[in-house]
Amino acid sequence: MIHLEEIRKSYFMGKNALEILKGVSLDIHKNEYVALMGPSGSGKSTLMNILGCLDTPTGGKYVLNGQDVSKMDDNSLAEVRNKTIGFVFQQFNLLPRLTALENVALPLVYAGISKKIRQEKALHVLDMVNLTQRSHHKPNELSGGQSQRVAIARALVNDPALILADEPTGNLDTKTSYEIMSIFGDIHSRGNTVVLVTHEEDIANHSKRIVRLRDGIIESDRPTERMSNAVHS
Ligand code: ADP
Ligand code: MG
Repeated sequence: MIHLEEIRKSYFMGKNALEILKGVSLDIHKNEYVALMGPSGSGKSTLMNILGCLDTPTGGKYVLNGQDVSKMDDNSLAEVRNKTIGFVFQQFNLLPRLTALENVALPLVYAGISKKIRQEKALHVLDMVNLTQRSHHKPNELSGGQSQRVAIARALVNDPALILADEPTGNLDTKTSYEIMSIFGDIHSRGNTVVLVTHEEDIANHSKRIVRLRDGIIESDRPTERMSNAVHS
């Protein structure tokens, strides 16, 4: 599903170029569940934004579902993004004036889908994250965990094959983090490909494969140890 070949990313500030990704090669198959780890500043978010077609690399090749997306223009990239990818952020990024249901249905408004179908689909994904009873609440009436579940439902509403989550539990306490991870487990079980960033080993151990980034290169890439899985399952 994901094929990265020597991906490089530099940020340019005036005359200076700062290279953040220094040749990242990585393959992720359909229905894998991968945790991306690494110290702060190692380039995890930069890589996730490229994976999510929110940004393009300055070098190398990214093939997503057989399509070379590394040199696509913004419009084509947005199309790929809307069809294929659901993105979850550390900050929940919900619109404060909209209810949970309306927040979840928003991507479908942009896709031009009728109100009736939007409601049905939004309620369906809210049910997947066990939040139907909160569908008419606004973000300020929801806890952090509930807000993140709304954000996950919103990421799922287009039925994307690939779910990307950048530190989705970064703002949550331990118990709530495990509830959120159990939802990602469900999403993976239903056949989605899941890639998530975390700096917590306990969280990463919910995945099946751990890729570690350091200073813009992959330092290690191995299956999650079964022992550590057993602790939290
Ligand atoms: P991580 O998510 O692993 O903490 P990031 O990918 O966010 O790391 O950032 C890696 C490095 O790139 C950091 O040093 C950060 O300051 C720098 N960086 C990130 N985004 C930009 C940007 N838009 N412009 C300039 N530098 C950036
Ligand atoms: Mg980051």
